[in-house]
Amino acid sequence: MTAPEPQRHRVVIIGSGFGGIYGAKHLKRADVDVTLIAKTSHHLFQPLLYQVATGVLSVGEIAPSTRLVLRKQHNATVLLGDVVGIDLANRTVTHELLDRQTVTPFDSLIVAAGAQQSYFGNDQFATFAPGMKTIDDALELRARILGAFEQAELAATDEERRKLLTFVVVGAGPTGVELAGQISELANRTLRGAFRHIDPTHAKVILLDAAPAVLPPMGPKLGKQAQRRLEKMGVEVQLDAMVTDVDADGITVKEKDGSQRRIETQCKVWSAGVQASSLGKMIAEQSGGTEVDRAGRVVVEPDLTVQGHPNVFVVGDMMSVPGVPGQAQGAIQGATYAARAIKAGLKGQTPEQRKPFTYFDKGSMATVSRFDAVCQIGKLEFSGFIAWLMWLALHLYYLVGYRSRIMAVISWFVSFLGRGRGQMASTQQWMFARLAMERLNGDVEELEHPNGAQAPQRQQAG
Ligand SMILES: Cc1cc2nc3c(=O)[nH]c(=O)nc-3n(C[C@H](O)[C@H](O)[C@H](O)COP(=O)(O)OP(=O)(O)OC[C@H]3O[C@@H](n4cnc5c(N)ncnc54)[C@H](O)[C@@H]3O)c2cc1C
Repeated sequence: MTAPEPQRHRVVIIGSGFGGIYGAKHLKRADVDVTLIAKTSHHLFQPLLYQVATGVLSVGEIAPSTRLVLRKQHNATVLLGDVVGIDLANRTVTHELLDRQTVTPFDSLIVAAGAQQSYFGNDQFATFAPGMKTIDDALELRARILGAFEQAELAATDEERRKLLTFVVVGAGPTGVELAGQISELANRTLRGAFRHIDPTHAKVILLDAAPAVLPPMGPKLGKQAQRRLEKMGVEVQLDAMVTDVDADGITVKEKDGSQRRIETQCKVWSAGVQASSLGKMIAEQSGGTEVDRAGRVVVEPDLTVQGHPNVFVVGDMMSVPGVPGQAQGAIQGATYAARAIKAGLKGQTPEQRKPFTYFDKGSMATVSRFDAVCQIGKLEFSGFIAWLMWLALHLYYLVGYRSRIMAVISWFVSFLGRGRGQMASTQQWMFARLAMERLNGDVEELEHPNGAQAPQRQQAG
């Protein structure tokens, strides 16, 4: 009888975002078995979600199938499902797909489950002002944005038309800036001349934030530049304006002086604040004293592990490390560090011998419109066309897969040089699925219009 093969070191990775994919890829040549478990079957390039929402890119260009990305990595297995349990003592991860529960044992664990949109305790806002974290969010937003123009074409009164043609983006971080810029370009370039009863160029796009500046992390100079450029495009930037209520027909805003005002608007987008995956809290509670911060991020040890479990790494948007922003680079570098630590462990390195994780800041950037971006690399600041070229190069470099890159270049060529956009389809399901699901769950009584009112009767425009 031959002795059983010694078991290989088992690495489980939770998440197929930047942290998950880069963690898995860095273990390609390691003598380990990698199991990547994620609740989405794709790797999502979140920084370009806003272009899916505004019809520039298709879903496939920013969300390649994880299974195909890792097809040639023979030590990697991809499993689809929602992780519902992590048992640090018994070293298992439990995930669910429909009614099936699967328990996967691990020797090392990399947790990269990311973050969700945060409504700062007002989750009811989500029904009226969806965030932008997933493909579903982006497609729903596209349907809501285009749907607002369609409804405006049928509107009976000026008041209704104004409400339908007012778009509010809450949160003036990079996503808010990019989205506001793209909605404005959509209205002023792509849709210009395409309606008979409304002029889409009369659409009002409002970018609103409780903070006193646009793009606060990029400093006052770039923030002001981005604001000026947005304003030049017709975007109304409202700062020091805190949203206190969101409903079907508008939002309520509290000014710095305490006064309240209302904006009548059907289409609202939330891009303010994130909350880390609740898996972070689950892990922290089982550790020897690790805590989570206010955004639910795990306050990890210098080697990105949790106390008492040097084989459990938390990376990306789930980790709280001073000086590391919730950006793709944080996730990529954190996951790369974890993979290297696991490989070094196989060669005999003890956890005590690990050098602490250090973050290399490669800068940040945001596009304002076509050919126009702001970019910060260390102390260097760029804006305008040069910054936009840098944005283009960087995004092409980090898009996963040659096919995605080629397709994205073609789409950008069409959208930025011409007026058209290739992805202007939207469906009833994209617009109504969230409400239908909420109704199934008993959260809303009737299938309503996305903004709360009953779906209007179709009328002949006169
Ligand atoms: C709209 C938008 C724009 C952005 N723009 C930029 C930008 O311009 N530049 C930049 O650097 N960063 C940007 N970011 C931030 C960047 O995308 C994130 O920092 C990065 O994606 C974090 O990577 P991650 O691996 O930690 O999490 P994610 O990429 O969010 O991946 C999380 C993964 O975990 C999976 N998952 C979650 N919960 C579970 C569960 N319970 N079970 C199983 N799987 C689970 C998800 O399906 C997903 O695969 C942007 C983010 C958004 C939303």
